[in-house]
Amino acid sequence: MNSMVLKSFLGLRKSSPETSHFAVHQKHAAISFPQKLKVIAGKTSPKLQGRNLRVAIVGGGPAGGSAAETLAKGGIETFLIERKMDNCKLCGGAIPLCMVGEFDLPLDIIDRRVTKMKMISPSNVAVDIGRTLKSHEYIGMVRREVLDAYLRDRAKENGATIINGLFLKMDMPKDKNSPYVLHYSGYDGKTGGVGEKRTLEVDAVIGADGANSRVAKAIDAGDYEYAIAFQERIKIPDDKMVYYENLAEMYVGDDVSPDFYGWVFPKCDHVAVGTGTVTHKADKEIPAGNKEKSRR
Ligand SMILES: Cc1cc2nc3c(=O)[nH]c(=O)nc-3n(C[C@H](O)[C@H](O)[C@H](O)COP(=O)(O)OP(=O)(O)OC[C@H]3O[C@@H](n4cnc5c(N)ncnc54)[C@H](O)[C@@H]3O)c2cc1C
Repeated sequence: MNSMVLKSFLGLRKSSPETSHFAVHQKHAAISFPQKLKVIAGKTSPKLQGRNLRVAIVGGGPAGGSAAETLAKGGIETFLIERKMDNCKLCGGAIPLCMVGEFDLPLDIIDRRVTKMKMISPSNVAVDIGRTLKSHEYIGMVRREVLDAYLRDRAKENGATIINGLFLKMDMPKDKNSPYVLHYSGYDGKTGGVGEKRTLEVDAVIGADGANSRVAKAIDAGDYEYAIAFQERIKIPDDKMVYYENLAEMYVGDDVSPDFYGWVFPKCDHVAVGTGTVTHKADKEIPAGNKEKSRR
C-alpha cells in the first residue's frame, strides 16, 4: 500500500468521498485506465467498431464487484451475474487495513475495528499478535453479505448492469467476430426461485464465481487447491460479547484443524466461529447447509 492511500484513509469517514482512491491511484501510477480501456477495445477488434466492449462478470463477490466497478468506470458495457444477492459467503471476514484504503470502503460497512488479535496454541498458550499494530491501525471485521452488496451497488452506480441469476454455461465464439453466449437462469421475484432461462452475448467473460467456478470449468482451467470450511454465527449474552468487543481469536492445532485454523471473529451483534481444512476434506463431518467449498 502506498503512503498516499494510507494518508487519505486516515481521515476516517462515514461514506465514500467524491474523489475515490481509484483516482488517487491513477494519478500516482500515471495511468489513465478508463481512457486506455476504451482505446484498446476500439482498436484491436473490427467487431467492436462503433460500440463499446461488452464484458460479463460471473460472480458478485469482492472480485466480481470490484471488477465490475472498474470496467463500468472505464466505459465498458458491463454485466455482472450473481446467483444470490444476500450471499453470506463462508469467510472470516477479517479485512486488512490496506483493503479499506485500496477499495475505498466507507467505515459504516465495517462491523468492528479490532485492535487485539490472539493466536491460541494447542496447549492454550495465547500470543497477542495484534501488538504490532500502530495506534491508528486495526483489523476490520465485516459481514460478507454487507461488503459484497456494497461493492456491487457501487458498480451499479457506475453503470454496470447487475443481473440476479445463476450462470449455467457458455458457448465459445464460433469465429473471431462472434460473441461469447452466456446461458443463465434469471431469479423469479414472485416465486423466489429459478426463473426464465436467458442468454447474454458479450465480447469477454471474467470468471469471478469462486471455488466451484463454472467459468473455470467451461474454459478447462484445470484443477486448483481449495479449502473446505464451516462457520456459525452465534449470538452470545451481552456480558460475554463484551469480551470480544475488540478481540479476534485464531486457534491453531490438530484439535481445531489439521492444516488450517479456527477463528472467533466478532461482528455487529454476534461472533462468527469457524474452522476449515485444505487437505483433510474427507475427514470433516460438516452439518448440511453449513458446508462450503471456498478458494483461499
Ligand atoms: C475458511 C475461509 C476463511 C477465510 N477468511 C478470510 C478472512 O478472514 N479475510 C479475508 O480477507 N479472506 C478470507 N478468506 C478468503 C476469501 O473468502 C476469498 O479470498 C474471497 O471470498 C474471494 O473472493 P471472490 O470474489 O474471488 O470469490 P467469492 O467470494 O467466492 O465470490 C464468488 C461469487 O460468485 C457467485 N457464484 C458462484 N457460482 C455462480 C454461478 N454459477 N452463477 C452466478 N453466481 C455465482 C457466488 O454466489 C459468490 O457471490 C477466507 C477463505 C476461507 C476458505
